[in-house]
Amino acid sequence: MTVLVKGAGVAGLATALELARRGIPVEVVERRADIGLGASHWAGGMLAPCCEREAAEEIVLTSGLLAADWWDEAVPGLVQRQGTLVLANPRDLADLKRFANRTRGLRWLGEEEIAELEPDLAGRIGTGLFFAEEGHLDPRQALRGIYQAARQLGVSFRFGEEAGDARDYASVVDCRGPQAIGEIDGLRGVRGEMLYLETGDVTLSRPVRLLHPRHPLYIVPRGNGLFMLGATMIETEDDGPITARSMMELLNTAYALHPAFAEARIVETGTGIRPAFPDNVPRLIETPEGLAVAGMHRHGFLMAPALAREAAERLTTTHASEKRRTA
Ligand SMILES: Cc1cc2nc3c(=O)[nH]c(=O)nc-3n(C[C@H](O)[C@H](O)[C@H](O)COP(=O)(O)OP(=O)(O)OC[C@H]3O[C@@H](n4cnc5c(N)ncnc54)[C@H](O)[C@@H]3O)c2cc1C
Repeated sequence: MTVLVKGAGVAGLATALELARRGIPVEVVERRADIGLGASHWAGGMLAPCCEREAAEEIVLTSGLLAADWWDEAVPGLVQRQGTLVLANPRDLADLKRFANRTRGLRWLGEEEIAELEPDLAGRIGTGLFFAEEGHLDPRQALRGIYQAARQLGVSFRFGEEAGDARDYASVVDCRGPQAIGEIDGLRGVRGEMLYLETGDVTLSRPVRLLHPRHPLYIVPRGNGLFMLGATMIETEDDGPITARSMMELLNTAYALHPAFAEARIVETGTGIRPAFPDNVPRLIETPEGLAVAGMHRHGFLMAPALAREAAERLTTTHASEKRRTA
C-alpha cells in the first residue's frame, strides 16, 4: 500500500525521495499549484551546521553535517562548497568572539585573508571567521531537482488539493510545515523576511554573515549578480508583506558590507513562516496517522535529509512487517 506525504516543501519532497529509494510507493498531495511555494520558497539555502550551532542544539550540527553530501548526491553539481564568512564591524568584535566560542570548524581571518577569499571586500572589514567546510545551494533549484528525482523513482504528485482522508493509505507523513501550527503540540511560527538584490557591481563567492547586536543578517550569492538577503526572526505568525523596518535593516546590512549595494535593484521581497518547536529543534514525531517531519525552523534544508532518512527507515520497517503479516 502507498504512503501519503502531505505537502511538497523541502520536508515532504526529501521524505518522498527517501521512501521511493527504498521501494515504497508514495503519493504526495500538495494544496498549492506547484512544489516548494511554502516556507521553503524563501530560504537562503545555507548548509551551515557549524554557524547554526551558535544558536542551535548539538543535534542540528551533527545531523546537518550530512546535508551537503545528501544534496550533492540527489542533485549533482548543485551544492557549492565555498564555506561561510562571518564578519563584524570593529565595534562588534565581542560578538565575533562570542560567536567563535559557541561554534567550531572555524579559522580567524585578518584583512588580507578576507580579501583573498572575497576580493570585493578588500579593505572593508579587518577581522572575520571562516567556516571552510560549509556550503550553500539555490533552494528553488534544489527543490526542483529532488522533485524530478522523486518522479523518476515513480512518486506520484497531486496538486491543488488539501490532503485529507488517510484511510486509503498504509501510512501518512505530515510535512505541512507552518500549516500544522495549532495541530501539532508546541509548534509556533517564526516570521522570516527576505529580499533579492541584483547588481553587476559586487561579486561574492560564498554566504557572508554580518553580526550585529540587534539584527544579525546574511547575504547569499546566487550567481549572475543576484543576492539573497535575509532574514529577520520575528516571533509572530503574521505572513504579511515585509515591513519598512525590516527592509531598512536588511538594506543597511548590504550597504554596510559594500556601498555598491545601494545601487542594486530590489527584484523580489518575501515573507516565510518558519514552523518551530519551543527548543527550535526540527524532529520526527509520531502522529495518529503515522509520522510528521515538523518544526524545521531555520534548518529546513540542513535537517530535511537526516529526518527524511529517519522517517523512511521507520516506515520501511513497518512496511516490511506488514508485508510479512499479509503474505
Ligand atoms: C527567510 C527564510 C530563510 C531561510 N533560510 C534557510 C537556510 O538558509 N537554510 C535552511 O536550512 N533553512 C532555511 N530556512 C528554513 C526553511 O525554509 C524551512 O525550515 C523549511 O522551508 C520548512 O519546510 P517545510 O517543508 O516544513 O514547510 P513548507 O516549505 O512550508 O512546505 C509545506 C508544504 O505543505 C503544503 N501543505 C500545507 N497544508 C497542506 C494540506 N493540508 N494538504 C496538502 N499540502 C499542504 C504547503 O502548501 C507547503 O507547500 C529559511 C526560512 C525562511 C523563512
